Amino acid sequence: MAMKRLVLVGGGHAQLAVLRALARTRPQGLETVLVTPSPWQYYSGMLPGWMAGHYREEDCRIDLRPLADAAGARLLIGAATALEADRRQLRFEQAPADGGGPADSLPYDLLSLDIGSETDTAALAGLAAGRLLAVRPLPAFFTAWPRVVDTARATAGFRLCVVGGGAAGVELALAAAQALRKHATTAQIALVCPPAGLLDGHAEGVRRRVLRQLVAAGITVHLQRAVGEADGLRLVGSPASHTLPPGGRLQAESCPQPDDRLLPADCVLAATGARPQAWLRRSGLACTAAGWVRVDAHHRSLSHAEVFAAGDVCARTDRALARSGVHAVHAGPILAANLLATLDGRPPRAYVPKPRSLYLIACGPRYAIASWGPWSAEGGWVWRWKDWIDRGFIRRHRDAAAARR
Ligand SMILES: Cc1cc2nc3c(=O)[nH]c(=O)nc-3n(C[C@H](O)[C@H](O)[C@H](O)COP(=O)(O)OP(=O)(O)OC[C@H]3O[C@@H](n4cnc5c(N)ncnc54)[C@H](O)[C@@H]3O)c2cc1C
Repeated sequence: MAMKRLVLVGGGHAQLAVLRALARTRPQGLETVLVTPSPWQYYSGMLPGWMAGHYREEDCRIDLRPLADAAGARLLIGAATALEADRRQLRFEQAPADGGGPADSLPYDLLSLDIGSETDTAALAGLAAGRLLAVRPLPAFFTAWPRVVDTARATAGFRLCVVGGGAAGVELALAAAQALRKHATTAQIALVCPPAGLLDGHAEGVRRRVLRQLVAAGITVHLQRAVGEADGLRLVGSPASHTLPPGGRLQAESCPQPDDRLLPADCVLAATGARPQAWLRRSGLACTAAGWVRVDAHHRSLSHAEVFAAGDVCARTDRALARSGVHAVHAGPILAANLLATLDGRPPRAYVPKPRSLYLIACGPRYAIASWGPWSAEGGWVWRWKDWIDRGFIRRHRDAAAARR
C-alpha cells in the first residue's frame, strides 16, 4: 500500500480530537505530521481565570507533544506561512524544527487546518507602540499581561481600556478589574463596546446580569466605536445606552459625552473580533471575501476535496456558524471521522451543531454568568460548573496522552 501523508496544521480545539482518534486507530499506511508554532495549545476559556489569579499558566494549556506521540504523529514546531493548494504543498518562511533537517515546504495527500484566528486590531493601529495588547495569539498575551499588571502597580491612576463587546471583552475587563484590585492598584478600567451593544446575540437577561457585574466592578462602559490614536482611543459616533434596572444607568446615558472625544489609555486590551491569517487568501483555496476558508457541512474545502478545516479558520457555506470554542470542540470528532473516511474512500459525515450553545462568562471573582438561549443564571455555582468543565477539558487530553505511554 502506498504511504499517504496527512498534515495537521495547528493544534487547535478540533485537531485535538483528530489526535485522539489517530491514537485510537493508528491507520496503516499513514504518515501524520502535526505543524504547530508552539508545543502548547492554550485554552482560551481559562485565560480570564488565570488573569484573575485562579489558575496557573500551566493549568490552562495542553502539551501537544505526548498527544502527537500517542497518535504516531511527527511534530514540526513552526508556523505555516503559505499554502499552494493546487500543488498540495504547505510552506514555511522559517523551516520548522523537528530534528529531521530543514525544509521550507511540506507536501501532503490530505490536509487538516485548525489554526484559529487573529485579533482584528485594524481600527486600533494608530495607538503608540507598546500600548496595544491583543488577546490573540494567546501565548503572547500570557507573556505580556503580567507586565501590564507591574506597570499598573507602579503608575498612579493607570488607565486600562478593553475594546470588544463580546464575551471575551467582558471577561477580560472583569478579570483585569479583579487582578488590579487584588494588587491594590488605583487603575481605572473602561470597556468600549460597539454601538450595537454588549453581547450581541445573547438574551436581554444576560446583558443585564453582565452590566450589573461591570458596574459593581467599577468599570465604565462606553457604547461607541473606538479608533486608536497615539495616546488612547477616539470614541466615534453618538454614545448608545443600556439601561440598568433596578437602579442606575450606565455612563453612556447618564453623562452624555460629546462625539469624537479622546479616552486616554496607558494600555488597550483588544478583544475586537476575529480575522483570518492573510496567507489563506493567497492559497488557492476557496475563501470568503474576508479570507476564511469556505467549507461544506463536512468541513471539507469547497475547492479542494483533500483539504478539511474546522474551528475559527473556516466559514460554513450551508449555514452561519459562530466562531467559538464550542463549535471547534464539537466539530473535532466529525473532522477526525471525515479524515479517516477520506483515507478509506468512505463518505464523510456532516457536523450538525446543536440549536443553541451554552456560554459560561467568568466575572472576575469565582463567580460566573450562564447564557443558554433565553435562559440565564449566575452565582458561585456557575463558576464551579465552568471550572469543572474547563479543568475536565484539559485533564481529558492529559489522560488521553498518558494512556498511550
Ligand atoms: C478570552 C477568550 C475567551 C473565550 N472564551 C470562550 C468560551 O468560553 N467559549 C467559547 O466557545 N469560545 C470562547 N472563546 C473563543 C475561542 O477561543 C475560539 O473560538 C477557539 O479558540 C477557536 O478554536 P480553534 O481550534 O479554531 O483555534 P485555536 O484554539 O486558536 O487553536 C489554533 C491553533 O493553531 C496554531 N496556529 C496558529 N497559526 C498557525 C500556523 N500558521 N501554523 C500552524 N499552527 C498555527 C495555534 O498555535 C493554536 O495552537 C474565547 C476567546 C477568547 C479570546
